[in-house]
Amino acid sequence: MSLAHGRPYLAIPGPSVVPDAVLRAMHRASPNIYEGELIEMTAGIIPDLRRVARTEHHVAIYMGNGHAAWEAALSNVIAPDDLVLVPSTGRFCVGWGEMATGLGAEVELLDFGMKTPMDADQIEARLRADKEHKIKAVLAVHVDTSTSIKNDVASLRAALDAAGHPALLMADCIASLGCDRFEMDAWGVDIMVTASQKGLMVTPGLAFVFFNDKAAAVRDAMSRVSRYWNWVPRANPAHFFEYFGGTAPTHLLYGLRAALDMIHDEGMEAVWLRHETLALAIWAACEAWGQGGPLTLNVAERAHRSHAVTALRLGAPAGKDLRRWTEHQAGLTLGIGLGMSEESDPLGDGFLRIGHMGHVNAHMVLGGLATMQAGFEALDIAYGAGALDAAAKALS
Ligand SMILES: *Cc1c(COP(=O)(O)O)cnc(C)c1O
Repeated sequence: MSLAHGRPYLAIPGPSVVPDAVLRAMHRASPNIYEGELIEMTAGIIPDLRRVARTEHHVAIYMGNGHAAWEAALSNVIAPDDLVLVPSTGRFCVGWGEMATGLGAEVELLDFGMKTPMDADQIEARLRADKEHKIKAVLAVHVDTSTSIKNDVASLRAALDAAGHPALLMADCIASLGCDRFEMDAWGVDIMVTASQKGLMVTPGLAFVFFNDKAAAVRDAMSRVSRYWNWVPRANPAHFFEYFGGTAPTHLLYGLRAALDMIHDEGMEAVWLRHETLALAIWAACEAWGQGGPLTLNVAERAHRSHAVTALRLGAPAGKDLRRWTEHQAGLTLGIGLGMSEESDPLGDGFLRIGHMGHVNAHMVLGGLATMQAGFEALDIAYGAGALDAAAKALS
């Protein structure tokens, strides 16, 4: 017998749960892309995106996923043979660096492991050693979704300033935007990339690159930029099609409009606090389970954990067994471990992740945690007592 029949719950760290209001907004006939509602609606989306990113500056929209956002940002400011510094706390940091390598850049990885955040002092020391200012940009992932480590982006700006280094500070907020507090302008971020399918609660397909005037000047000094990735016409379109370098992503824009309305109706501070509070419940449960069983949180210190995703170690094959059980027996899909071991390594089955980004509330989180505990019972996986009580308490 399966108890999975009912509304399924995708609790992986992206794509995230899409609100019914977003789906309804997308369920419509194709709009005219030359005049009328779509054109006006798109103009209104820009300031509301800026409010989510906490920036007064520019935004370019691309049809693409997070990888597209990575390449779009790099293509505007990084030329072949430029040196970029990539501090790494997981798979996604490495991935952005690989994207830069693919564009011909020289990539220097500064590895901080898979359990603790980037150390700004070490980054500052590396920047100080770069007397000739060869490093053109620092690629910093705010929340690395593979490890669920949250990095202190503002401390990287402080490191750049202390070293008197002109490199661009580029931040990947694909997992964190609309979940963890992020303040582009106040934190001195020059370029920020994100995508539609995580905290922004829309289906995959839209990528965003935010950039300030300093980054715009670096772009202007480039001898050549790919015509498609060029952010200049997208951020300052003379004609509607220039926003998107061609046909507009019509239905995604309607979905995004609805999602931005939901975010701003709730308020950025409230959105962040909801994610933080729900994360506290998840951590409380996981910590209690770990007292009497094999489960551990990947990141030991609470201050270094993302509020959008939690990476867990359960041991192989229990991690995979639990994911299978919750999906097939209970309708809850948990995330696989990513980048925690070599792909061919069976120990990879010991990792899993809970996605808690975007359209997630208290009963979803409590139901998800109770479902996990039912899975421990069914699979005979040992666990500590009081986890659900602790989660409930964290929300009260
Ligand atoms: C999801 C994610 C990406 C990649 O996004 P895709 O849409 O899968 O291309 C990159 N960086 C971070 C931090 C992410 O969470």
